[in-house]
Amino acid sequence: MADRKVLAGARVVLPTGIVDDGRVIVEGGRITGVTPAGPAAPAGTAPGGAGHAPAGDASGPAVDLTGHWVVPGFVDMHNHGGGGASFTSGTVGEVLKGVHTHRLHGTTTIVASTVTGEMDFLAHRAGELSELAEQGDIAGIHFEGPFISPCRKGAHSEALLRDPDPAEVRKLIDAARGHARMVTLATELPGGIDSVRLLAEHGVIAAIGHTDATYEQTVEAIDAGATVATHLYNAMPALGHRAPGPIAALLEDERVTVELINDGTHLHPAALELAFHHAGPERVAFITDAMDAAGFGDGVYHLGPLEVEVREGVARLVEGGSIAGSTLTLDTAFKRAATIDGLPVESIVRAVSANPAKLLGVDDRVGSLEPGKDADLVILDDTFTLVGVMRKGEWVIEPQLR
Ligand SMILES: [Zn+2]
Repeated sequence: MADRKVLAGARVVLPTGIVDDGRVIVEGGRITGVTPAGPAAPAGTAPGGAGHAPAGDASGPAVDLTGHWVVPGFVDMHNHGGGGASFTSGTVGEVLKGVHTHRLHGTTTIVASTVTGEMDFLAHRAGELSELAEQGDIAGIHFEGPFISPCRKGAHSEALLRDPDPAEVRKLIDAARGHARMVTLATELPGGIDSVRLLAEHGVIAAIGHTDATYEQTVEAIDAGATVATHLYNAMPALGHRAPGPIAALLEDERVTVELINDGTHLHPAALELAFHHAGPERVAFITDAMDAAGFGDGVYHLGPLEVEVREGVARLVEGGSIAGSTLTLDTAFKRAATIDGLPVESIVRAVSANPAKLLGVDDRVGSLEPGKDADLVILDDTFTLVGVMRKGEWVIEPQLR
């Protein structure tokens, strides 16, 4: 078959563990076999029957990836833009440029996050973004704000914040035409718990964030159906021994996945380690929370109506100095986790691919290297630097091997 590709010789990270000297076989945009070297392994049986080569059949030209890792393409469920483009306010062309910028950094599945804006604006924006979701350019929409706490507003415009109102939440869900994936809200505000219930009923993730909730209020929101912690630790009360706040409630509950921004600015490595240790690798999702400057450079940008200055890769509001999103890309988050935080590669792959894919309900197609899934994968060298990206069987970056 003309578009058949065989990636050979790499350390391949599978759901069942790491295979040394493994092979990944790609045909028609999908993975058709993933096997250790040597005779064909039954585990790699290709779906679809006739017409497919037997799993493990590495005939045809192979790309020799000896000394490299092959990991699943990254899934970012919280991302506001990149490449100079904003997912909240950019044109369609700009949004696609932002999506492509993150693809160049290994993110083959991306959710577009909006920041706080007027309700009518957000509803209109949801309609525009839903078209990109229908075309498969983005994996849906995440609304961060306006239903968040003024006490923990971060880089959201205070004048536009409002209490969660199930009718307004419903308006955003409807405007997104089936592509609303997540809403971040401060569940302790009036209407918060009812809004969580509404989101859960509609299959949209209710994420607790930009919140001033107590421990008890957070437990109540989880019991009502909230399943994600929006950038755990950031924009919420700190862990206190008499007032454990949301962090303790979110970390201890098996039903919750915690987002972490592993850029070295938002979190101390010990805080990351504590979350990983306590929640376990099944309940952590690495996100970027990236803004326009990701993959672009320092300068002055806008986040909604607010002005942001990016200096040495750190984005802060011009007024007040709050951290305003990140300039992180997931390849950097991966590399930090492997080289600075010392996390096992399988755990990092869960946090950066499998867990967010499962949460978003797209794990039937992406999030792991398994036959039948999209051929979305990332090639890393032995220092965990990204050297190749494939999406749906096509190279986004073809590895230039020595
Ligand atoms: Zn965000």
